[in-house]
Amino acid sequence: MRQRLSSEPDRYRGRRRVPTPPRSRYAVAVTSAFVGAGVVALGAAANLPDQKQVDVQSLKGLGTVQAADDALAEREAGQAASRSDSRDAAAKTKVSAADATADVWLLPLEEFEFTGPYGVRWGKLHAGIDLAAHEGLPYKAVHAGKVIQAGYYGGYGYAVTIQHDDGTEAIYAHSRRLLVKKGDVVKAGQVIGQVGNSGASYGTHLHLEIHVDGKPTDPIPFLRQRGVDIKLQVESVYAGMAAAS
Ligand SMILES: [Zn+2]
Repeated sequence: MRQRLSSEPDRYRGRRRVPTPPRSRYAVAVTSAFVGAGVVALGAAANLPDQKQVDVQSLKGLGTVQAADDALAEREAGQAASRSDSRDAAAKTKVSAADATADVWLLPLEEFEFTGPYGVRWGKLHAGIDLAAHEGLPYKAVHAGKVIQAGYYGGYGYAVTIQHDDGTEAIYAHSRRLLVKKGDVVKAGQVIGQVGNSGASYGTHLHLEIHVDGKPTDPIPFLRQRGVDIKLQVESVYAGMAAAS
């Protein structure tokens, strides 16, 4: 390090000009690094003749660093201006993203434990998945659609069935309370009911079924293909949009 420094004439001259006690040797190195970063900005903003002068000034203390900081701040202000341009562009993108939210798939609950898989159990098809959650926890539509059933529905207890635009259906069962009625149009993520223990249910949970062409299918791979991983409790709007497009 020392070897390298003294082999650079500019720096060497600077060090000679400003005798450096041991304490400030570190400071010099740091200051040079700072100014080094600011040189481009200084060159543009203050139109300094050459880098040599910057190096020498840097040894004189914080004034130059301050100048460099100012130049950087100025440059950042310029960038902020162009950032606000890109924010406008982002806002435009956001609008088109909002248009695309019809394609979004989401998790039905904020907090839950996956307790029951889809499949045959006790000789009977368990046609959905069970997600244990606190009594009364709001559950949300995994996808936009139209409510085609809402009310007490035999073993399902208080249940909501939502038909999506692609013709698939989601059934949310064993609710304590329903917050939508038949004919309502809901968005993905809209709260449609509260977790309960109604119907043929043993323990407070949400039973979620997905029907494709009127037949139940395993919601786990179905949702995973749409960017929602029930087991990992991850929802990816972008993956969902990608899957939908
Ligand atoms: Zn179930």
